[in-house]
Amino acid sequence: MGSLQKRPETRSEGRSVPALDISGVSHSYGERRALDDVSFTVPQGSFTALLGPNGAGKSTLFSLITRLYNTRAGEISILGHKLSQEPGEALRRLGVVFQARTLDLDLSIRQNLAYHAALHGLPGRVARARTEEILRGSDLMKRLGEKARNLSGGQLRRVEVVRAFMHSPELILFDEPTVGLDIGSRAEIVAEVRRLVRQEGVSVLWATHLIDEVEASDRVVVLHKGKVLAEGGVAAIVAEQDAGSIRDAFASLTGLARPDLGNTPPLELQP
Ligand code: ADP
Ligand code: MG
Repeated sequence: MGSLQKRPETRSEGRSVPALDISGVSHSYGERRALDDVSFTVPQGSFTALLGPNGAGKSTLFSLITRLYNTRAGEISILGHKLSQEPGEALRRLGVVFQARTLDLDLSIRQNLAYHAALHGLPGRVARARTEEILRGSDLMKRLGEKARNLSGGQLRRVEVVRAFMHSPELILFDEPTVGLDIGSRAEIVAEVRRLVRQEGVSVLWATHLIDEVEASDRVVVLHKGKVLAEGGVAAIVAEQDAGSIRDAFASLTGLARPDLGNTPPLELQP
């Protein structure tokens, strides 16, 4: 955390309070059950990957955490604040990068960041200083005055990543932020996020169907068909499944060869 702003003192609640606590959450679209009794935590300071193939329920869960949908079954808490009881306290500790792009292409990068900061009550002077603090050492610093529409898809995504950090949230959700980008841009975004996470000490929930985005020191929650199949450190999940890698552990948990290939069975199960 930089020197500009002190984090709000949730620390009185201690490090033992999870950054995110999902408890018994279910959600249905009509007859279709998208989430079925989902429970897991994102401990403070952790990088937790929510790993699941398309249709697993990742975005539905994010819609519940951000209160786009109401949680009818179960409870969600952010840094100990229940969404159902203290939504304002909970949501102001939250930053989000949605699956769909949400920048204004006619504004400059600096204006996009300032607009978001203003929505969160940061004065312009603070927003400018915060922008420099976050972007120190990043090549995006040189492009602040440019209109968003002049940037590539990967660069736009990186601006959205930076924007999510502007109001110094304690928990940030990322919903498949690298989907549709080329390999080089994907690597840049993952690197930018991990750099900022280290620098700012935030807790992260990173939804993905790409196993290669998971690092050995991450926590992983495997979500499949609306159910949590495993939760823990990479090494623990691999050991539990008696597997050689997180990729093999995923295959044995879900019966899918790879989360990015939909319903392809693992090689050893193919005829
Ligand atoms: P993911 O983000 O992991 O790909 P989603 O949360 O988008 O998964 O979807 C979970 C399930 O819910 C899927 O079966 C999907 O078809 C269904 N679903 C998602 N959004 C809607 C919706 N608005 N109306 C009906 N069904 C939906
Ligand atoms: Mg999704």
